[in-house]
Amino acid sequence: MYELNPTPHVLVSGGGIAGLALAVQLVRSGIRTTVVERAAGPRPGGQAVDLRGASREVAERMGLMPGIDRRRVHEEGMAYVDGKGRVFGRMSMADFDGEGAVAEIEISRGDLAEVLLDTLMEAAETAPGLLDLRFGDRITAIAQDADGVDVSFEVAASARFDVVVGADGVHSATRRLAFGPEEQFATYLGGCAAFFTMPTPAGLEEGWFSMRFVPGITFGIRPDFDPSTSKAILTLRMDRDPSLRGDRAAQEALIDRALEGAGWHAPTVQAALGDASDLYFDELVRIDVPDVSSGRVVLLGDAASCGSPMTGQGTATALIGAYLLAARLAETPEDAAGALRRYAADIVPFAEHGKEIPYGGIERMVPKNRFEAAMSRVTSGIMLSRIARPLMKRVFAGAAESPALPEIPVPVR
Ligand SMILES: Cc1cc2nc3c(=O)[nH]c(=O)nc-3n(C[C@H](O)[C@H](O)[C@H](O)COP(=O)(O)OP(=O)(O)OC[C@H]3O[C@@H](n4cnc5c(N)ncnc54)[C@H](O)[C@@H]3O)c2cc1C
Repeated sequence: MYELNPTPHVLVSGGGIAGLALAVQLVRSGIRTTVVERAAGPRPGGQAVDLRGASREVAERMGLMPGIDRRRVHEEGMAYVDGKGRVFGRMSMADFDGEGAVAEIEISRGDLAEVLLDTLMEAAETAPGLLDLRFGDRITAIAQDADGVDVSFEVAASARFDVVVGADGVHSATRRLAFGPEEQFATYLGGCAAFFTMPTPAGLEEGWFSMRFVPGITFGIRPDFDPSTSKAILTLRMDRDPSLRGDRAAQEALIDRALEGAGWHAPTVQAALGDASDLYFDELVRIDVPDVSSGRVVLLGDAASCGSPMTGQGTATALIGAYLLAARLAETPEDAAGALRRYAADIVPFAEHGKEIPYGGIERMVPKNRFEAAMSRVTSGIMLSRIARPLMKRVFAGAAESPALPEIPVPVR
């Protein structure tokens, strides 16, 4: 238990996984917290994200497991299908002891965000006056001096904070305003990813995350917590096109073209796309920020470090980072800049681990042409065969093993 000094007032930009998790722990530690989220309300959407190793430990320490268990996605494993839906390779969770592409604990990103929001509201109820959660606003300017940070907002009046945390995702505004332009930190990885919720197509094998490779796009359908819906997952291999950002009609047209004649459930995915209320579409980028703390401003989650959704590690890294940052701030509330530096050092091993892409990136994940599509089919079939299983187990065991959490006390009020 900490002896708390007068606590700092922390501004968190972004109410995604990282921002909400941080706010939970800060409020529980008795730290005044303002969260500003650009969206008008909590953002739904996203496919299943997995929790293993240190991220599972953090979820347990934060008391999130009962909420996660209530919305847990039950998946048997991953299957590769051809144009007629015939399975030519399987990776079952049981065969890989929950350490393969599908982990033992899977929850949709939007459901995890809901669990975090519920937990935050509970924490705020027991600590009145500590949380100010604002939707539909964003920061527009940041100016720091030795004693604090002046922040301007699009909607709310300007205010001064002791610490500003940029948890505003891959295209972080905090990073742009306090560290430098996005181009300085982002590397395009050769494609785009899209996710959305769709009605579960008739005839889909229940409980399996099924995937199909076609030239230019790999698309999959993944179980949801609610069996009547599924998540469509699309990875497109393409040159960079910045004009797609924020242009939903252009994003839909691109996906529609890529799925033309792709067989299996492609027509159902195409038909559901227009109605999807939670379409997420973004470039696949890697984010490298050499030093994530700068005085009283610090970056967290994808804003600080990201290897793209291809890693499957973004949510885990965000949860771990939020937990470490809150703990460091609670340890020395009177020395915010020191706490941010210690957090920055703590997060390095997790952030580096979180940027590793299993299978070697988009070139291995999405075939460029028909020849590569045929080759993907052959190599996937071999890799997932019984004979290659011990080797694949070793590959996934390496990827799943995350660094241990540093010994830090659990922050409590
Ligand atoms: C809707 C959605 C769906 C996703 N689906 C997947 C998925 O299926 N698979 C996967 O691997 N990853 C997905 N991601 C990314 C994944 O959530 C992150 O990699 C990971 O959870 C790290 O979380 P984060 O909080 O750093 O970033 P995010 O979860 O991206 O959260 C950032 C938050 O900041 C908000 N924001 C952005 N700019 C501003 C601003 N200027 N001011 C205030 N707020 C701002 C955003 O609206 C968002 O709520 C998704 C992200 C979103 C937003």
